[in-house]
Amino acid sequence: MRQQKFGTGGPQVPVIGQGTWYIDRGDRKGAVAALRRGVDLGMTHIDTAEMYGDAELVIAEAIAGRRDDVFLVSKVLPSNASRRGTITACERSLARLKTDRLDCYLLHWRGSYPLDETVAAFEQLVGAGKIRSWGVSNFDTDDLDGMLAVAGEGKIACNQVLYHLQERAIEHAVIPWCKQHGVAVVAYSPFGHNDFPSSQSKAGKVLQTIAEARRASPRQIALSFLTREPCVFAIPKTSTPEHAAENAAAGKLVLSNEEITALDKAFPRGPKPRGLPML
Ligand code: NAP
Repeated sequence: MRQQKFGTGGPQVPVIGQGTWYIDRGDRKGAVAALRRGVDLGMTHIDTAEMYGDAELVIAEAIAGRRDDVFLVSKVLPSNASRRGTITACERSLARLKTDRLDCYLLHWRGSYPLDETVAAFEQLVGAGKIRSWGVSNFDTDDLDGMLAVAGEGKIACNQVLYHLQERAIEHAVIPWCKQHGVAVVAYSPFGHNDFPSSQSKAGKVLQTIAEARRASPRQIALSFLTREPCVFAIPKTSTPEHAAENAAAGKLVLSNEEITALDKAFPRGPKPRGLPML
């Protein structure tokens, strides 16, 4: 599994991690087994949020006895992101996850509380040892500028944003901004949530051909493409151990320039949209 630095001064984190949205629906035993298998295979970055129902409880079960192996991330809802609300939300997540600290804590998207209130709470949590670092999610460059003005350089560990083969908007300005300021980019919904390219489509056939030539799956090729830049991580979600193993193996796959060019053509970046797309 390839590892890279998670933001300025951050630890080494695997390029492929594990999402957990909807992981609490359906077979919980299977979900716990999938997360454990993922960690065994190096996908130690586990992403969750107070918004994701009982996902934090599922994770607590999966990481019991192996907390130190995991890079654990959760998120505060914007409606809770006041100075005091952020602290309370974090403590609630820590209790649900049955741990004493998060490796990174994110503002899920920008809401109406002033950023300096949320940042003050994040810094208080860092001081208390309850979080190791903090970051943002769904922030476009103007929001990132605003956060930088409040927090200063070197404080924002990551920006978690929508990024998959059919949605490459962040390549226009968000990735360059993050690279310039040493902020990790975490690609969420890297398989398009529930809309992975069909092998019957024209672009899907290109993906399939590359996959066959590399004896890999189309999803592994997609993950490798998305993490081709050294500041980008991806967090696919799965509830099955077999899929976890498939996703983890993508962390070893490096595409050639020719393969990247072919995918870039098949799944064009498109023009820069007015707003940042999000789910
Ligand atoms: P995703 O990871 O793009 O896709 C998940 C879907 O892919 C599931 O249906 C899953 O089904 C399937 N899948 C996974 N691995 C597979 C494999 N190897 N073969 C076949 N199918 C496979 O979607 P996502 O859950 O929206 O995004 C990932 C994570 O990003 C979330 O779980 C969450 O942690 C985070 N996220 C963050 C935000 C935000 O606003 N910050 C928004 C959305 C998502 P199975 O479970 O059956 O494998």
